[in-house]
Amino acid sequence: MARYIFVTGGVVSSLGKGLSSASLAYLLQSRGFKVRLRKLDPYLNVDPGTMSPFQHGEVFVTDDGAETDLDLGHYERFSGISAKKTDNITTGKIYSDVLKKERKGEYLGKTVQVIPHITDRIKDFIKNDTSKEDFVICEIGGIVGDIESLPFVEAIRQFSNDVGKRNALFIHLTLVPYLKASDEIKTKPTQHSVKELRSLGIQPDIIICRSERAIPLEHRKKISLFCNVDIKNVIQTIDVKTIYEAPISFNRENLDKQVLEYFKLKTKKKVNLNPWKKITKITLNTKKSINIAIVGKYVDLKDAYKSLDEALTHGGINNNLKINLIRIDSEKLKISEIKRNLKDVSGILIPGGFGKRGTEGKIEAIKYARENKIPFFGICFGMQMAIIEFARNKLNLKKATSSEFGKGGIPIIGLISEWNKDGKLIKGTDKDLGGTMRLGLYEAKLKENSLIRSIYKSKSIQERHRHRYEVNINYKEDFEKKGMIFSGLSPDNKLPEIIELKNHPWFIAVQFHPEFKSRPLEPHPLFSSFIKAAKKYK
Ligand code: GLN
Repeated sequence: MARYIFVTGGVVSSLGKGLSSASLAYLLQSRGFKVRLRKLDPYLNVDPGTMSPFQHGEVFVTDDGAETDLDLGHYERFSGISAKKTDNITTGKIYSDVLKKERKGEYLGKTVQVIPHITDRIKDFIKNDTSKEDFVICEIGGIVGDIESLPFVEAIRQFSNDVGKRNALFIHLTLVPYLKASDEIKTKPTQHSVKELRSLGIQPDIIICRSERAIPLEHRKKISLFCNVDIKNVIQTIDVKTIYEAPISFNRENLDKQVLEYFKLKTKKKVNLNPWKKITKITLNTKKSINIAIVGKYVDLKDAYKSLDEALTHGGINNNLKINLIRIDSEKLKISEIKRNLKDVSGILIPGGFGKRGTEGKIEAIKYARENKIPFFGICFGMQMAIIEFARNKLNLKKATSSEFGKGGIPIIGLISEWNKDGKLIKGTDKDLGGTMRLGLYEAKLKENSLIRSIYKSKSIQERHRHRYEVNINYKEDFEKKGMIFSGLSPDNKLPEIIELKNHPWFIAVQFHPEFKSRPLEPHPLFSSFIKAAKKYK
């Protein structure tokens, strides 16, 4: 039977519960165990798919087409395990499942209540779709004490009773702040947070204390005493210089060792930290850098393009380069200032996006990259904008547009009419927005002698998608006559997946999101190649 590790957070959010869970998963895996990572989110959206990245950061897409919390991206990047639909749930989804059952009369006349019906549904999620895992790590979103997370905390409390305390471990991550004015480290917030958790019936087994600086033994002893946790299980995590150091740092502080000790398990293999040491060294010691511009709408929020930023960094590591991301707000990008804004960049990237706002700036940036032969990478919306730019300026279709922006103009980009998913035809819609895009892994065939084929070194690829609109294939020949290459198509030849340009050193735009599959220990070939081209351009 699997052992369950529950990770909760206290004091403040954004302490790095996701990164801690992901690092622990790596360490346990490296010791020879099979691990699964899951996230329970307390908000009422059924999934984060309809949330703006301004609100909640990037929406991460899994192979099987779930739109999930961005922490699942951390999990994948650190553990190397591809997440599934069954690894993320929200309060909204739980309630909607329970209410659907109630409408069908499946509760047989009972009063439907938070306890036991909502908590039972949460417990089902925790156990669902597992096989032969040694560990299932479940992160609870939000912080303990939030009204929203109460049913989750109650459910994991019950769960540990159901499976037996020896099969469930509670990790609580808290903040141990340093007060500059008094030059003191404070343990009180941790004590309060654990008190809160204990009032809900959960005694943490391990406390991870996030701190700016080393926590002296006497302070750790205090936490141990007040929080009723063995001193060996009071684990400090001091801010690391790069996130790739996190698995090394947690191992140094014995997190994985203490977890195994709790479960009375012997390690199967020695932990291998060499890959992390190698990339940490490169990340910290590389002096050379290049500027890459991301022209998008959500540039003010750091997490809005999380996987993309990561994938570019991975591409940089692969080329021994530091990447300076120049985030340019496409809404504010004035056409007259394009040259001044982009003159110091070695590559231009247009990421995924939705809606008309800011598109003219993106289109102008693409024109600038195309005409000045600056390496250009368009992703999803970025590809659609590259098509519109080319239609307007090379095919002279000045009214070229996307039907996503409303009626009128020439819809070179239109709503996907239908597509094939596992032998089933699915129809595109723009009425019901939740979970109705073309989502997850789809195949693309790559054209012989194309740049893309030389990068992937393969005839066919599988990449993750998240789009409602597509390039109208009927214009393909007109585009080709003017020097565009449709170098990747869906297997039925109906849907353009990749375009590139003749007479340009590196101009690639893709309908999918390669950034979701890039991992620090396995950088994505497209990002490595883009950065290599940018390095050459410089
Ligand atoms: N808005 C576009 C579409 O739905 C692009 C989506 C994206 O960039 N992820 O097709």
